[in-house]
Amino acid sequence: MIRKGMKLYSILFGVCPKCHQESMYVEKNPYKLTDTLKMHERCSHCNTKYQMEPSFFYGSMYVSYGIGVAFAVAAFVISYLLFQTSLVVAFLAIVFTLIAFMPVIMRLSRNIWINLFMNYDKSVTTKASRK
Ligand SMILES: [Zn+2]
Repeated sequence: MIRKGMKLYSILFGVCPKCHQESMYVEKNPYKLTDTLKMHERCSHCNTKYQMEPSFFYGSMYVSYGIGVAFAVAAFVISYLLFQTSLVVAFLAIVFTLIAFMPVIMRLSRNIWINLFMNYDKSVTTKASRK
């Protein structure tokens, strides 16, 4: 199961990579396109600064490339192998999937990227939840 304290939890839900207490994103819904990448500057629980350096999240573009390929392969397998569509339809399915999931892919890649540099810190959590 996915629970707090696992890297996957922070990656899937976009919560602070240090304390897993709150979302890094201002807007919960990634499909509100004007706010897809709008993030809080710091975590209000543990005061972690998300953007460690000015161009920190540029690196997440490499991650989003990888995730994009994974989504494309999944779309291809589902349409071409599972539903046995033609290659053209399978190709369209890939394009459609990449467009439809773009906000999710963009956030996922940021979440993965930041989790490469920051780890869950239990001491921060217990301090924050002890109210
Ligand atoms: Zn935090």
